[in-house]
Amino acid sequence: MTLESVADRYAVIGNPIEHSKSPQVHALFAQQTGQAMQYERLLAPIDRFAERVHGFIAQGGRGANVTVPFKLEAFALAQALTPRAQAAGAVNTLSFSAEGIKGDNTDGMGLVRDITRNAGVPLRDRSVLLLGAGGAARGVILPLIEAHIAGLVIANRTQSRAMELAQQFSHSDVPVSSAAFEQLDQPFDVIINATSASLDAALPPLPDGVFGPQTLAYDMMYGAQPTIFMQHAVGHGAKVRDGLGMLIEQAAESFFVWRGVRPDTAPVYQWLRGQL
Ligand code: NDP
Repeated sequence: MTLESVADRYAVIGNPIEHSKSPQVHALFAQQTGQAMQYERLLAPIDRFAERVHGFIAQGGRGANVTVPFKLEAFALAQALTPRAQAAGAVNTLSFSAEGIKGDNTDGMGLVRDITRNAGVPLRDRSVLLLGAGGAARGVILPLIEAHIAGLVIANRTQSRAMELAQQFSHSDVPVSSAAFEQLDQPFDVIINATSASLDAALPPLPDGVFGPQTLAYDMMYGAQPTIFMQHAVGHGAKVRDGLGMLIEQAAESFFVWRGVRPDTAPVYQWLRGQL
């Protein structure tokens, strides 16, 4: 019997999918932890996500990561949801078992781990400014609250979306509010850019006063060069970090959900950084 015939099958499902680094990341995790598993890329036609998932389950699939543009469909498809997937309103990790399809969301935990462990910046009792109100922003709010931050302010280009998001989390233990960019007049300990502005080399219109010497400015986007947001933050004296660590940490959290084993993310981060 070959390893392939006994290995559990996992996949990342998206459209497009060729660019995904997840197969290499999970192969490194599996090698490191001695887990017998295969991990492949699956392209789902835009209108056939559920069919693709059921096809993969029929072929023996045990779990899947879900990427653009299917995270909301994965949320709808799941028969059970973890609290963090429920709060995110989106699913990036599916587990398949006799009980059915379970949906989870590991993106926010990935961000929190990257900030607290890899960047060594504590979140407890820290003030956090979240830029953006799309899927990525929504997914990180519950994990930030669970990390016991002092308070969260959300600012977004379309202000009504930030207000709606703040309203959704208004009953949590941590104060969550929204503000217009021009109202921001205090430095924050951590500023998280969860907008896609950096993709267009654009900057959210942040007043200079939000940056202090202790501020960590985190861009969820990543690349070979610092993003325009990171360059701007450095110019205002902040420490900066891009979203590559979040990407690796969310993968590690999915791996843990499926296999119950935590891989060492540091060597995988180094390897992937070298590939950019
Ligand atoms: P969405 O399309 O759901 O949301 C985009 C957000 O960006 C909205 O809040 C939008 O504001 C805002 N925005 C877009 N353009 C501009 C601009 N020019 N100026 C100011 N605000 C702008 O995207 P996602 O939430 O899914 O993703 C956001 C980013 O996070 C992407 O760059 C993505 O690559 C990254 N990401 C990284 C991950 C990682 O592991 N590192 C994981 C997930 C996401 P408005 O509401 O006004 O349209």
